Amino acid sequence: MIDTQPPFTPADAVARNNRYRGSSTQEMLRDLLTGELAGRVAVVSSFGAESAVLLHLVSQINQRVPVIFVNTQKMFGETLAYRDELAERLGFVDLRVFRPDPHLLAEKDKTGLRWSYDPDGCCDLRKVEPLRRALAPFDAWISGRKGFQSGSRIALPRFEIDEGRLKVNPLADWSKSDLDAYFAEHELPRHPLEAQGYLSIGCAPCTSKVQPGEDPRAGRWRGWEKVECGIHTEAKPGEEPIF
Ligand code: SF4
Repeated sequence: MIDTQPPFTPADAVARNNRYRGSSTQEMLRDLLTGELAGRVAVVSSFGAESAVLLHLVSQINQRVPVIFVNTQKMFGETLAYRDELAERLGFVDLRVFRPDPHLLAEKDKTGLRWSYDPDGCCDLRKVEPLRRALAPFDAWISGRKGFQSGSRIALPRFEIDEGRLKVNPLADWSKSDLDAYFAEHELPRHPLEAQGYLSIGCAPCTSKVQPGEDPRAGRWRGWEKVECGIHTEAKPGEEPIF
């Protein structure tokens, strides 16, 4: 008989939010990657403005943890170069690149302009579907989301459930200054576009510079109500932050 039970439930996320309350990010990650999640988890990275911090934290524990990158085929060239530089420098040996399904693109985004009239549909095609494929072998994944990034992420918990998988947000409670200090302490390279005013970096057509005083993610999907790409959804009842 096929086991259709999801590997994790909302109660599991609540239990882990409680278990690791008060633990440092490093302690929590080491415990997870050498314990219950060993061989069951991947890191998902956009190789954006602050991605180096999470990747460095994981690389200090295990460079064999798979790193998933979804190339939407609308990325900045600088992001692809930064991805290769960072993965090499941190010593990751299992970088997995996933792209949109060409048949779906031919059917639903023949002109490549879907982002301009239906960004949700474009993200579904170019991010959500490839990520679903990428995560199929895993019970859990690690995301680089931070609570401070925008108003919608302020109550971000460290653990959530997403399609039956445990989603870990190790940087949920990190501030911008914590990240900056970590970059400096470990001499991590910055994304080349950050110095030009891009504080949150996604696909080229949907990313613009952030003006002084603006929310760091204000440059994403400017002019649209959209704040997330569909990969991350808001916490559901029973998955609220417990820290
Ligand atoms: S961020 Fe923009 S270009 Fe990238 S997948 Fe979403 S809508 Fe498409």
